Amino acid sequence: AARRVGAVTATALDVLARVFGYDAFRGQQAEIIDTVVQGGDAIVLMPTGAGKSLCYQVPALVRPGTGVVVSPLIALMQDQVDALSALGVRAGFLNSTQDGHARRQVEEAFAAGELDLLYLAPERLRVPSTLELLDRGTVSLFAIDEAHCVAQWGHDFRPDYLQLSLLHKRWPTVPRIALTATATETTHAEIARRLQLEDARHFVASFDRPNIQYRIVPKDNPRAQLLELLRTEHPGDSGIVYCLSRASVEQTAQHLVDQGIPALPYHAGLDREVRATNQSRFLREDGLVMVATIAFGMGIDKPDVRFVAHLDLPKSVEGYYQETGRAGRDGLPATAWLAYGLQDVVQQRRMIDTSDGDAAHRRRLGAHLDAMLALCETVECRRVRLLAYFGQPSTPCGNCDTCLAPPESWDGTVAAQKLLSTIVRLERERGQRYGAGHLVDILLGKRTARVTQLGHDSLTVFRVGTELTEPEWRGVVRQLLAQGLLAVDADGYGTLRLSVTSADVLTGARQVELRREVVRSRTRGPRGSA
Ligand code: ADP
Ligand code: ZN
Repeated sequence: AARRVGAVTATALDVLARVFGYDAFRGQQAEIIDTVVQGGDAIVLMPTGAGKSLCYQVPALVRPGTGVVVSPLIALMQDQVDALSALGVRAGFLNSTQDGHARRQVEEAFAAGELDLLYLAPERLRVPSTLELLDRGTVSLFAIDEAHCVAQWGHDFRPDYLQLSLLHKRWPTVPRIALTATATETTHAEIARRLQLEDARHFVASFDRPNIQYRIVPKDNPRAQLLELLRTEHPGDSGIVYCLSRASVEQTAQHLVDQGIPALPYHAGLDREVRATNQSRFLREDGLVMVATIAFGMGIDKPDVRFVAHLDLPKSVEGYYQETGRAGRDGLPATAWLAYGLQDVVQQRRMIDTSDGDAAHRRRLGAHLDAMLALCETVECRRVRLLAYFGQPSTPCGNCDTCLAPPESWDGTVAAQKLLSTIVRLERERGQRYGAGHLVDILLGKRTARVTQLGHDSLTVFRVGTELTEPEWRGVVRQLLAQGLLAVDADGYGTLRLSVTSADVLTGARQVELRREVVRSRTRGPRGSA
């Protein structure tokens, strides 16, 4: 049938203006909405903040019946429904936080055709009565939000998402729209396959966030570095600080408060009520810093987050992109800052080695980490690398740390050989393995108690590395680990050993390019010094 684009868009535009108070669609919204209104399927890949919600909310209002939105963000459903109700949209949700009475009210409203939008937690679909309920009303479309949760090896996998293909089997004529802000080629393909959306139209927006300044710095004293960032560049700003562990979330939040910076903790170990209070305070008040694990942030719509700081290395580029993407949604300048050090690599490699799952799973995790490490160690534009990861070619941005202060690279072959041969000697001659700290002490010729006690000051490699400082040596270790030229034992002590490619370095068959560390300036970051 011929597509009546003009007519449909006029209705949609009318809804956009009348209900939402906006006068124009952004980016590909019009085309997406047009596709769904006409009954077609769509896969939408758009960065956070680009306006995905309207892509299903407008068609749900244009088409007869109720738009059913599957979303894993249970904690946000009440807010979403409240916001829609304030606009006069008839919306409800069904999830596990409700009591029976509230649930029945929503179910009756749906069956009576009195809802424009119904938000569903994915686990509701496991309950047969939910499917029977959907039969009692008219479904205008299925929207599958955070669709990357269907990707089995992704960082947000939700087993319940695998059930979503049954929606299509049961209601084959109802259009479906899958939306996500995660967009590697593999995730994209997996969404299409697992949701049986092979015939859907694909809409891929640019993933560039030009107002975000990306910076990745060597970690030495992370809390002091963070404090300096906040005081010199972001005084009084709202921002998010991500930490890996719950304990470091609490300690960091307390540290900031002690230093006079208003900060709140957020992690899955806190009471539901504390979490909800902290989240809503962060959304409503100005100038609060949320210190959180990655449990915080999915679906958070706060436009004026001026910085996102990572005190620990994210596990994947997708995660990094999503987390940093929460900065600067208002389009104004924002900072994405990450402090990254040797310990991060050691810790994450160990976590992968000891993780549950089969070898293929560990390989996948390892590949995610390697991509993240490559972004950290690059001498190229961060943005170019980031966008390339999402399959989008670009040119140097002129705004990231490597563009503003291009790092020098240096020939680290000899340094690498010194370190690797120290490991070899200790292992061959003494049958022992050590962590980075002790190895660096030997290279620098430090007669620590441990060095003398073990007699390591008599090794031929003792004091052969005085041309570099201790932080520089730690940088060498970190970069060799990142490049896979060195490995960590799974013993939990950060013990270093050779990797399969170490031999090529020792024999001189392979040159080692390293990035020269910009040792922490106590003054300002690139923005201030530029
Ligand atoms: P996403 O889900 O992609 O992260 P949202 O749907 O939450 O993004 O939209 C981000 C913000 O942009 C919201 O405040 C939304 O109201 C606003 N927005 C979306 N589309 C438009 C538009 N066409 N005109 C004006 N504002 C819009
Ligand atoms: Zn750049």
